[in-house]
Order: sequence, then structure tokens, then C-alpha cells
Amino acid sequence: SNIIGGIDAKRIAELQAEEAEIFRKARPKSQARTGNGIAGYFDGVPMHWMTDWPTPFPILVESARRATITDVDGNQLDDFCLGDTGSMFGHSPAPVARAIHKQAGRGLTYMLPSEDALAVGTLLQELFGLPYWQIATTATDANRFALRVARAVTGRDKILVFNGAYHGSVDETMVRMKDGKPINRPGLAGEFRDLTQRTKIVEFNDLTALEAALKAKDVACVITEPVLTNSCMVLPEPGFHEALRRLTREAGTLLLIDETHTISTGRGGYTKTHGLDPDLFVLGKPVAGGIPASVWGMSEDVASRYAAYNRSKEPGYSGMGTTLSANPLQFATMRATLEEVMTAENYAHMERLAGKLAAGLAAAIKRHRLPWHVMRVGARIEFICAPGPLGNGAEAEGAHAPELEAAVHVALVNRGVLIAPFHNMMLVSPVTTAAQVKRLIAAFTDVAAKLAA
Ligand code: PMP
Repeated sequence: SNIIGGIDAKRIAELQAEEAEIFRKARPKSQARTGNGIAGYFDGVPMHWMTDWPTPFPILVESARRATITDVDGNQLDDFCLGDTGSMFGHSPAPVARAIHKQAGRGLTYMLPSEDALAVGTLLQELFGLPYWQIATTATDANRFALRVARAVTGRDKILVFNGAYHGSVDETMVRMKDGKPINRPGLAGEFRDLTQRTKIVEFNDLTALEAALKAKDVACVITEPVLTNSCMVLPEPGFHEALRRLTREAGTLLLIDETHTISTGRGGYTKTHGLDPDLFVLGKPVAGGIPASVWGMSEDVASRYAAYNRSKEPGYSGMGTTLSANPLQFATMRATLEEVMTAENYAHMERLAGKLAAGLAAAIKRHRLPWHVMRVGARIEFICAPGPLGNGAEAEGAHAPELEAAVHVALVNRGVLIAPFHNMMLVSPVTTAAQVKRLIAAFTDVAAKLAA
């Protein structure tokens, strides 16, 4: 018979049907209001990702506080998804809520700096180590702008991504490797260009392929996460980051580190914790505690080359910037996040509980002899329904078990726990409690026992 992630497909289908029924019964109000689509929206949802949750219909949220979501039917969920990182520091962190309240009566956008902007500039320098910064509104845009600068200062057209990477909806990163050949990422809507013309792709951890791809000295920039968090979770092998830095330098290629997810590692992100030395740095999602904002930083060298480039180029629109970026609400909330939320104390709590959570999940997997594994980067944890560790994006693609994962997700929701959709990610925030971690471990262990039986 058909085995997925070590489990008989029939057993998965049974669990899926059983849990879908339990989910429906507990949510009559949600079902009445979202179950047939929400009026006014294409496909019944305001953002199409909302249909990608594995639940029979979207949960209608009444409120979210700390690390708990309450839905309109009165169900409470321990939230380990946390807006897929946007609320990594908890829902409406108190210092951020105070900053919003204070700024609310002082104007929300005016294309001029506020006093908070002065503070944020030096906070970014201190926390992340790069000397020059710009503000955008999404991590997607920050990556787009940083890549534009990389091309401008190197005079090179190509970029390089690792197979399985995700950096937001940046068109030119939408390349995948299939049977060793680069292709446009399957599923892209309305894309007629061959993106592989300007984007090279190699497997993460493959230094030989990386060196070969950089050899022609036509790559402006390598863009990567320190850990691949969007392809299950693939850790860098020992020495990978040192070699990546050396090879990019030798080839005159810039290195862009996207910390949007790995900011879970600790204060200053993976870059600071592990002493990386990027030319360009991007952070979005939680940098303003849940208010849309992103930051991108440049090294001294990139900044001086970009200034020279600007002096030499024809005047005109740079192709960067969006009107609402660098607004005073972003500065107020970023300042609060950088000063009062991303504290060493908060990270210590996250690290301690995340360690407990990872150990508890691994113990359940071992006890029920499932061929699965658990990975972690600081407060970010992933269980993977295949043996590990995984070495690259191709292995991660092979490890995906969508039907199994969907059934497990709904079963966890029915046991009071929400984890991120599309993959099996859990985040521990500064306000996540030991009791919530215990409940997740118990729920996961119960589901594992059901599947293994
Ligand atoms: N970079 C990384 C590493 C991401 O995981 C994501 C989103 N998951 C982004 C950038 C894009 O973030 P946003 O959708 O907020 O633009």
C-alpha cells in the first residue's frame, strides 16, 4: 500500500476525515461566515494564501493576545504560527501597542523623518553592525531594492539563489532546479520570461557548484538565508558560511543575507550570533512588532560604491521606494521593537522554551518510531515528516508530505494548537508560556500515537 512519511495513506485519510469533522463541529460561526467564501473577495478570501490553510474553512479570529488566538466561536488556540513570523514577539507587544497609541494622534504618514527615525538609524547600526540603512515596507521590497543596488555597484546583471529558497515575491528569485537544470518556479502566474537567463541556481551546501557558478564573474549578488527555513529546515554544513563569504569575495560578488526568518536565532539575528559578514542585509516581518516595515543595510564598501554610482549615473527615478515607506508609525513601532522587545532577556526566554519544545517533539517521534526529525534555529522549530538532517533544497522537496502534514495540522488545531501553514513551523515568542509548550508537546504526542498505531 501507499506509505507517506512512514504512515499508511489510508490511515492519513481516516485521520483527515475525522479531524475535519471535529473542526467543523467546534466552529459553527466561522463556518457560517467564511465557509462559503467571504462576500466581496475573489475566491472568498481577502488574500489568497488564506485558502491554503489545511482547515476545511478559515478560522474567523476575534482577537489575538500574547501567544493566544481567540476565534468567533470562543475557541482558544495556542499560537505557534504567530503570523508566520510577523508576530514572532507575540501579538501586540505592550511597547509596540503603546507606540502605536502614542503615534496615532500625531500623523501616520508624511514623507518626512520623525524623532523616532533618528533613534532607529543608530539602533540598526548597533544591533546589526552595518553602517547604512534604508526603510521599506515588506521584506519582498527590501530584497528587491538591495538586489538593485548590488547590480548597480557591480555592473553585473545576474544573481544567484539556492534551490528551495524563498525571499518573498521577488520575480527574479523564482527559479528552481529540476533534474539538475534551472527552470522557472512551477505555478508562477503570468510569467512569460525565462527567469533562468538572469538567475543562476545551485544547491545549498554545494560549494563546488557555487564556485563554478561564480567563476565567470558575472554574478552581482548571492542572496540567501543563513539557514534555509522555507524548504523544511536545512542547516548550513560546518564551514559553509566561511566558504560562501570567501568565494563571493574572490569573484567580486556581493553577499545578501536575508534574516527575515533567522532573526529567531538571537539578538542581531544569525549574522551577529554567528559572526557573518554580509555586504547587504535584509530584515522584514517582525522588525516593527507586526506593523508592516522592513529594513535593508549596506556595508561601508557598498555604500561608497553606490554613492559613486549615483554621482555618475543619469539623474532620474532609481526604481526603489514606495510612498508609505519610512512613515512615522513604522519608526515608532520599530523603535519600540528594537529597544524594548528584541532584548537579550526576551531572546533567552525564547531560546530556553524552544529548546524544550524541540526536545519534546523529538522524544514523541522517537517513542512512536516515526521516520521524522526536528530542526531548530533559535526560537524557530520545524518538524519534518522524513528522516534527517536534510542537506539541500532538493532533499527538502523530497521530504514534503502535504497530505500527512495537512492532517496533522488540523489535528493539532483540534487539540488547541496553531502552527504555520504550508510547512511545519513553530515559533516561541517572549510571551509564550511553559504551559503552552507543554500543551503542544502533548497534542503532538497524541497525534503521533494515533498515526503510529
Ligand atoms: N525573506 C524570507 C526569508 C521570507 O521567508 C519571506 C516570507 N516568508 C520574505 C523574505 C518575504 O516577506 P514578505 O512576504 O513580508 O515580503
